[in-house]
Amino acid sequence: MARRGTTLKPFIAGNWKMNGRVKDVAELVRLIGYLKRDKPRCDVLVCPPSTLIHAFRVRLKGSPLQLGGQDCHGEANGAHTGDISAAMLKDAGAKWVIVGHSERRRDHGESDAVIHEKARAALAAGLGVIVCIGETEAERDAGKTLSVVGAQLAGSLPEEAPARRLVVAYEPVWAIGTGRTPSLADIGEVHRFLRRRLEIARGDEGTKVRLLYGGSVKPSNAREILAVPDVDGSLVGGASLKARDFYDIIRACPK
Ligand code: PEP
Repeated sequence: MARRGTTLKPFIAGNWKMNGRVKDVAELVRLIGYLKRDKPRCDVLVCPPSTLIHAFRVRLKGSPLQLGGQDCHGEANGAHTGDISAAMLKDAGAKWVIVGHSERRRDHGESDAVIHEKARAALAAGLGVIVCIGETEAERDAGKTLSVVGAQLAGSLPEEAPARRLVVAYEPVWAIGTGRTPSLADIGEVHRFLRRRLEIARGDEGTKVRLLYGGSVKPSNAREILAVPDVDGSLVGGASLKARDFYDIIRACPK
């Protein structure tokens, strides 16, 4: 079997959420400039709102930066007003899509089954997929963290996904946008558990799926979080909106 987690190429993904107008393309241009001077040791992804994917793509020529969507529908097209399909994201220039973010689960009542369907649609369209899982504060306080993330993992991950196109983001709901993070030991415990579950379900492929930590990652804590065994990168929300902060997180990737 391949060696675990830390030998995988780190993956740093920025989730802009519902932020960004055309004027903010300037922030992306700044980031491209930083990455030109100092080639990243990790895969770098930016997931802007869908309205900006094309504008970002135009600026990306020759840059190692990749683009992603923040969500997709479970079907390829049809009568689903306001939704966007994985094929549309790909057409606009995306290589990846996030599914199952806790804000989607909360705001749109998305279940593991719905997320599973979206992830399958993303793979069918040729995208890589980042599946988010994570416990609420009440679940953590009740000692249910591992059972909650274990069930989310089993329910949302498409069985057929090859490891190179599948990323799992562990994002404790209570850590997102709050400035609070679990202890390094707690992050390590969850990632070790997820790795083991992936290995049991997928064998060698399970050792190659990258496991990201997300939730209040910033330049000041990125280095120590990214050094935790089986943490293969990070999904970054707020701190990805400022090119300098995001670049400092990218630079914190282990060598
Ligand atoms: C996120 O939304 O995926 C996230 C991790 O947000 P933040 O970094 O702002 O906590």
